[in-house]
Amino acid sequence: MILEIVMYDHPVLRQKGTKIREITKELRKLSADMLETMRAHNGVGLAAQQIGQVLQFAVIDVTGIKERESRMWVDGKSVNPEDYMPILLINPVISGTKSKVTEGEGCLSFPGVYAEIPRSQRVKVSTLTLDGKTFEFEAGGLLGRAVQHEYDHLQGKLFIDLMNSEARKANREALDLLRQGITPPSVDEKKSPPQT
Ligand SMILES: [Zn+2]
Repeated sequence: MILEIVMYDHPVLRQKGTKIREITKELRKLSADMLETMRAHNGVGLAAQQIGQVLQFAVIDVTGIKERESRMWVDGKSVNPEDYMPILLINPVISGTKSKVTEGEGCLSFPGVYAEIPRSQRVKVSTLTLDGKTFEFEAGGLLGRAVQHEYDHLQGKLFIDLMNSEARKANREALDLLRQGITPPSVDEKKSPPQT
């Protein structure tokens, strides 16, 4: 089932998600619905807050994105990220490198808004799976960026918080429209960065 995506600046996007206490049938259904919703909008990530649920839960899938490389390591070994997609973030804990990379980023809750955002080059992730097991991995490239973007959503933090003054200025009009409940015209999808 495709769910409605919450747009900026709905207050739910500023709420910190509560911990998942138990893997339930409802969570499995939510997971399937969020993946379907994300794919229907050509996104690579979607957080619970973006469909109006205040949970420590997000979905990611970078399959088929060729123009922006994703990197992944499991047990310190480099792996093919596509073998592990989709990735669910359930009560995730992350730690990122001090060194940053700045690349274009978009968000499904901010149509028409794009900016260069600095993110840790590589990030360590510990999460639960739908089997209730702990899954640890490291991520870089687009996958690393998506993990950090989704993790921020789960804390009520948004990518506009990380924009420099230049990016804020460039996106001022689109952000003003969103605040008025108007969807700004979207940029050519081929030119815009993957949305999370
Ligand atoms: Zn987002």
